[in-house]
Amino acid sequence: MELEKKLVAQQRTFFNTGQTKSMEYRIRALQQLRQGIEKYQQRILDALHADLNKSEAEAYGSEIRIVLGELDFSLDHIEKWAAPRLVPTNSAIPDGVSTIYPEPYGVALIIAPWNYPFQLAFGPLIGAIAAGNCAIIKPSELTPAVSRLTYNLVHEIFPEEYIAVMEGEVETSTALLKEKFDYIFFTGSTGVGRIVMKAAAEHLTPVTLELGGKSPVIVNKDADLNLAAQRIVRGKFLNAGQTCVAPDYLLVHENVHDKLLELIRAEIGDKYGADVLQNNDFPHIVNARNFDRLSALLQDGKTLIGGRSERDHLLIEPTVLGEVDWKSPVMQEEIFGPILPVFKYGDLNPMLDEIVRRPKPLALYLFTEDEDLQNQVLNQVSFGGVCINDTLSHMTSHYLPFGGVGESGMGSYHGQQSFDVFSHHKSVLKRSK
Ligand code: NAD
Repeated sequence: MELEKKLVAQQRTFFNTGQTKSMEYRIRALQQLRQGIEKYQQRILDALHADLNKSEAEAYGSEIRIVLGELDFSLDHIEKWAAPRLVPTNSAIPDGVSTIYPEPYGVALIIAPWNYPFQLAFGPLIGAIAAGNCAIIKPSELTPAVSRLTYNLVHEIFPEEYIAVMEGEVETSTALLKEKFDYIFFTGSTGVGRIVMKAAAEHLTPVTLELGGKSPVIVNKDADLNLAAQRIVRGKFLNAGQTCVAPDYLLVHENVHDKLLELIRAEIGDKYGADVLQNNDFPHIVNARNFDRLSALLQDGKTLIGGRSERDHLLIEPTVLGEVDWKSPVMQEEIFGPILPVFKYGDLNPMLDEIVRRPKPLALYLFTEDEDLQNQVLNQVSFGGVCINDTLSHMTSHYLPFGGVGESGMGSYHGQQSFDVFSHHKSVLKRSK
């Protein structure tokens, strides 16, 4: 029997023993995971450095800390989330008592991408465990050090009939997707999201798709420009722009365009040094294929800031492009690199129409204190999530479900939503005789 078939069968048998449903079992598993991550912390940092050149501070802040925060929040609330919830009953059934029971789906498949390879494998795993499932993780082959570490960490603390890791390339993912899972949680590109959903349809397996897209950032003329520059630079150039919720392109009011760009230039210098190509802590592009794709996009406008690159080290410096055409390649696909196209506007309305005509973005960022404008954008544009006067930070809140809409994804997680997404909510109506 092929390995993936055997593993799924073993996990299903184990799930059917009912052990993973006990609250003590789930809490113990989350605690073991926490201890495992603490024990492996230096190895996690080293692997993220080897695969993506992430500095320890960036790797800890954007990967380990987020996972530990989710773990602790889950441990603090799991008993409440898992408790049956009494709800009202219609007056037509006067003796009825209605309850919603969360129950685990069974065996879950988690497919992870390479850009936050630790966070995006272990974050969903927390939800799967908390809800009482067994799970198989398929890490990305493009970050081999983190893939190996994920295998070692998981296999040291859990038996594989409960939680397992299957490393490998696309073929491994394809083979896994042929099996019948009870839930599939996929993080990656929109194109592969379609493949995953088609495969899931064969078994009518429910899916969460955490995908990407072109997330705009808008800076209005009344915005605090220092704050906007700091937060755009942090959001755009974290992980060299290889972040699903990174601002993809910038729309700025013509009155503040020049000042904002001046501040962005200064902020890049402050944060990454005068010569980013000499900064050993700036993450590199994941591979030569992506480097070449991004290098071609550098030609799609006039370079206003940055623009240099070094193929030997897969480095591209933070770059801002002006005079960009909406129809140029850089405006067709998610950029996923340290390149920020900028558009000036006098009237925001045609810009909003342009956003609405395009696939719904994963995130939108708006810098303004003008509440009418905030409300207009919130009402007019559909997107996964928004930060007003910031970038990225909405995804760090345990109280805000994180996910996309339309081509940027389907379903959401984080906080209680991570528990709910891996649970079937069973409706129970009890009547007396
Ligand atoms: P990807 O879709 O190429 O790969 C993701 C995973 O799918 C990997 O494990 C890979 O092995 C597997 N895979 C690749 N091709 C496959 C195929 N044909 N059949 C089955 N499985 C396949 O994505 P990526 O390049 O690793 O990640 C970048 C993308 O992920 C970007 O679009 C980014 O926006 C998105 N992303 C989204 C989020 C989110 O939370 N919404 C987070 C991170 C990344």
